Amino acid sequence: MKPKLLLFDIDGTLISARGIPKKAMATVLASRYSTFQYDKSYDFSGRTDPEIIEHLLRYDNREFSDTLIKEILRDFCIELEKEFFDGHRPEIHPGVNGLIQRLRTTENVFLGLVTGNVSEGARIKLEAADLHRYFPVGGFGDDSKDRNELPPIAQKRAEIHYNKIFESKDIWIIGDSIHDIGCAKNNGLRCLAVSTGLTSREDLAAVNPEFLENDLSDFERIHEILVHS
Ligand SMILES: [Mg+2]
Repeated sequence: MKPKLLLFDIDGTLISARGIPKKAMATVLASRYSTFQYDKSYDFSGRTDPEIIEHLLRYDNREFSDTLIKEILRDFCIELEKEFFDGHRPEIHPGVNGLIQRLRTTENVFLGLVTGNVSEGARIKLEAADLHRYFPVGGFGDDSKDRNELPPIAQKRAEIHYNKIFESKDIWIIGDSIHDIGCAKNNGLRCLAVSTGLTSREDLAAVNPEFLENDLSDFERIHEILVHS
C-alpha cells in the first residue's frame, strides 16, 4: 500500500470547543473597541481565522490591515489559552479517539491537519483535548486566509516530516463544512465529511463529498474507507 495522508479539520470534526473561542474573541474585541456590532448571521464553519476576523471588522465598519488581524489573533490565542487553563475542556466527538488510535497504529498511514485555526490556536485546542501529539504537521489559518491553499502546504510539510511522498489520490480531507469539501475538490483530493459540526447533512451532501457520515463513531468502518478505498 502506498502511504496515505489523512488531513483532519479541528472544529466540528475532532472536537467542539463549546463556545470558548467565541467568548475569547469577544473578550479581545471588547478590550480594543468600546462597542462592537456582530454579524449574527455569519456562518463561521470552515472559515479561516483571518477570514473570520476580516469579516467581523468589515461588518462593524472598522479599518483593518494584515498587521491588525495578526495582533487580534495573537491576543485571541492568549485569551483562548487562559480559558482552557481555567479548566474548560473541548468536547471530543464520538469515535475520534478510537479512530486516531486505529490509524496511528496502521502501517503507512500518516496524520496531519488542515484547519482554519492559526497554528497556535490549533495547538491550544488540541492540547486541551489531549490530541495534539497525534498531529505533528498541518496547514493553518496563518499560512493563508484562503482554505483552498492549505492542503498543499500541509502535504509539503508532511512529506518533509514523515519523509514520504503522497499522491493526490492517497490524501484525504476529513471535515465538517462545505469548505473542507471544497478545498479537497480544488486540490484533487478526496473528502470524508461528517455532520458533527454546524452544517447539516443535506448541505454537505449537496457538494458531493466522496463519503458522508453522521459522525466517526463506527471507526472500524471509517478506518477501512480511509485506508483501503
Ligand atoms: Mg470545522
